[in-house]
Amino acid sequence: MAARMTTGDILRVILAGSSPGDRQWIIELMRSGSSWHCEFTEVDTGEAAVRHAQSPGAGRERILLAAPLSDMDAMRLVARLVDAQGITPCPVVVITPGNGRELGTVLLRAGAQDYIGEEWLSPYVLARAVANARVRWAMEQDVCERDDARKQAEEQLRQAQRLTQTIIDGAGALVFAKDLQGRYFLTNRAWRERVGLSELQSQGVTDEAVYGPQVAQDVRRSDQQVLTSGRRVVAEETTFQHGRAVYYLSSKFPLMDEAGRAYAVCGVSTDVTSLKETQAALQARERELQTLADNTPDILARFDRQWHHVFVSAAIARMTGRAPQDFIGRTPRELGMPADLCTCWERAIEAAFREGQAQTVEFTYEAPGGLRHFSGRFVPEFGSGGRIEHVLAVLHDDTEQKRAEQDINRLLEEERHYARLLARMAQASHRMHASLSADEIAQVLTEQAREILGAPRAVTHLTLEGSGGRTIQAVSTSEDAGPADPAAPEGVLNAALTGKGGEPLGLLQLADRPGEDYTHEDRTVLRQLAAIASTGLENARLYASLREADHRKDEFLATLAHELRNPLAPIRNGLEILRRSGQLTGPAAQARDMMERQLAHMVRLVDDLLDVSRISRGKVDLRLARLTLQAVLENALESSRPAIEAGHHRLVMQLPTEPVWIDGDLTRLAQVVSNLLNNAAKYTPAGGRIELSAWTEGACAVIGVTDDGTGISADMLPRVFDLFAQVDRTLARAQGGLGIGLSLVKKLVELHGGDIRAESQGLGRGSRFTVRLPRAVPAAGSVAQPPAPAARITPSPAPCRVLVCDDNIDGAESLGLMLDLLGHEVRTVHDGDAALATVQAWRPDVVLLDIGLPGLSGYDVARRLRSDPALRGLLLVAVTGWGTAGDQRRSAEAGFDQHLTKPVEAAALEAVLARRLDPARAGPAASG
Ligand code: ADP
Repeated sequence: MAARMTTGDILRVILAGSSPGDRQWIIELMRSGSSWHCEFTEVDTGEAAVRHAQSPGAGRERILLAAPLSDMDAMRLVARLVDAQGITPCPVVVITPGNGRELGTVLLRAGAQDYIGEEWLSPYVLARAVANARVRWAMEQDVCERDDARKQAEEQLRQAQRLTQTIIDGAGALVFAKDLQGRYFLTNRAWRERVGLSELQSQGVTDEAVYGPQVAQDVRRSDQQVLTSGRRVVAEETTFQHGRAVYYLSSKFPLMDEAGRAYAVCGVSTDVTSLKETQAALQARERELQTLADNTPDILARFDRQWHHVFVSAAIARMTGRAPQDFIGRTPRELGMPADLCTCWERAIEAAFREGQAQTVEFTYEAPGGLRHFSGRFVPEFGSGGRIEHVLAVLHDDTEQKRAEQDINRLLEEERHYARLLARMAQASHRMHASLSADEIAQVLTEQAREILGAPRAVTHLTLEGSGGRTIQAVSTSEDAGPADPAAPEGVLNAALTGKGGEPLGLLQLADRPGEDYTHEDRTVLRQLAAIASTGLENARLYASLREADHRKDEFLATLAHELRNPLAPIRNGLEILRRSGQLTGPAAQARDMMERQLAHMVRLVDDLLDVSRISRGKVDLRLARLTLQAVLENALESSRPAIEAGHHRLVMQLPTEPVWIDGDLTRLAQVVSNLLNNAAKYTPAGGRIELSAWTEGACAVIGVTDDGTGISADMLPRVFDLFAQVDRTLARAQGGLGIGLSLVKKLVELHGGDIRAESQGLGRGSRFTVRLPRAVPAAGSVAQPPAPAARITPSPAPCRVLVCDDNIDGAESLGLMLDLLGHEVRTVHDGDAALATVQAWRPDVVLLDIGLPGLSGYDVARRLRSDPALRGLLLVAVTGWGTAGDQRRSAEAGFDQHLTKPVEAAALEAVLARRLDPARAGPAASG
């Protein structure tokens, strides 16, 4: 409202006019026409007028009176003064030329408050115009201010609405309001998006339309509660979207009018579907865990920081006999668990909380059914913030496992013990069985029994049958055992040694083990050892008797061969006499020849027999010399040729052209090959093919004898070299063998460091024998030349006196006869004494002396003769059945010049006698 100017107020008048006269006039008009106290500010330009009008200060205490201006017309001035709302900064009255009505109207429209035509100017008019202008300006100002306030209020309302909308739209929850009829009139974006309606569509829509009648019924029920109670209601509501349940938690409240009547229901619904699902999943999980916890054999217990049980599984009842619910909220100590167990658990819980790491413990618990072993893991349980909330103990009952482990360990220990025991028993057994001496077996038994059973002292007494009831006592004492008390009984543990037929052999006794009784097992072990020793003793006894028998067999063979030679000697002599006498002709001469052949065969058999027994007794000495393979084969062929020819076999030879050197005994090796050739001839039907071949293979010289005869069956092949082995006894007998030839061959080859192999494709498919001998590097000097073929008939030596001494009268007489035939003077005697006497009395040139004589032996006689210097020229020749190198050495030692083996061949005898006459050829050569 316009302020009424009261007396005393000052009206500031901006008086604008280019003409000072105009200005003065107007001042006067004002002064005379009004009661205002005016203060004039005169300006003569439009610019100055605008500046003053717009200067700070209240517009209503000012007024611009504008007379004509030279720089600006009135319209322009007003236009310059009005603001955006068409209001001037202070009331403006324009003095217009003339009556100014036309311009005045325009000026009023442009914003001036009043105008006065010059013509009308008077103090009264001016005063009225000023008053008018001021009132009008004040009214305009008022209108303008009201308009602003309204606009401002509207703006504020809009802002508030926007804010509300933003807030409810921004809410994640669904916000809505519906009227009493259930028509929605306010919804937020979340609500609309959820139900799929635009803002416009949502206006006035109902729950039936949105959710269908079923859901709407539920929803409306809680709406009604709100409306009737006038209070907030929280309701769970379930809607369905695309066939899937969506759960809401809705908070609903009434909107009240001023009279306190509810006119609408407003609500906020939160979608709790995922929460519900999570809850359901959690519950399911919880149930699962519970089932698991209740059914696992392990005990599960959850502890808080104060060691209280917050959970225990049903299994705890088995361990403690108490119900799980007894435990909840109580510590193990409060439950009265054993103190050491409490300490163990408390430490583990503490450590798990402190270190954030699982702790393992082992403990025992006296359960109602007995002591049980447990192993436990105390595991920290972290909350979502990474803080340890609880410690979960998982306790596993190890009792059965522990027991099984203990059982296994015990069994293992037992097994180890038995393995050790077995090893020691095996060792003892091995030692006892390896030994063939009863004394050693007794000693080993005693020591081993004492050591194995840990006795301080052990004694074995044995009485051996067959050794003249010899007794053996073996004693073993441990180093730390005290001296044996002769008064105290020897021991409580003993075991008898028995022979195969149950006869007692002796007793093994163990002294008491200090501080430890013997067990049943110890007794068994001792008995077992005694049994092993008994077998060992039996073996030793058997071995001894076997050796004895073998020895006796060898002795027998040697004696047999020797004894066979004695009768052979006179027969050979007799045949030689018959031949030399030249008296036999026709059938008698044929019979003599046949007898000679058979005799030769018999001599060979006897020689083989003797050789085998010698080799068995280790009594063969090889006369080793460097010789060629060819020499061996030639020698062998020479003696086997008659047999090959007799069988009308074809002999094929494949021999190396270069000499192949070996170190060997020429006679023995020739014997080997000759035996093989003889067998080939013997076991090949007449007219067969025999191949003798030789070659070298690396360091070996090889001889092969192959025939296409009867062959050898596969089962017999490995045994042909065994002594007395014969494939077909009837056949062999027909062939006149003893089954010793190959055995001899093998032994001789082995004595030479070689080996022999027999091969045959089977019966009727021939055989092949292969001998391998080590080759020698040829060296000059030691080469044995093949002996010159023995002169079968040497030129008869000059007659001499020969004394023959042999207790075999036929042998002596026949030899005498033969010498007689050879032209010598002969005397025969039959014992040593007679020989000595005859030598002294008759003074012979040569003495042929048997060694095995009754009374004085041949050696005695020889020694006595040699001790007589008067007999220095006497030729002393041993003629004996014993022909080994050892025999020859012994005869040489006794003083014999020559050594002949019975039966003596006439040629050999002649050669010896000839050597007597030709001392240059004399040597220790033996024949036989
Ligand atoms: P024997 O005196 O029986 O010939 P040996 O020891 O020489 O004894 O031979 C043993 C056995 O081997 C003979 O009985 C014979 O059955 C068999 N045997 C040996 N040589 C041959 C061969 N060349 N062919 C077939 N069988 C053979």
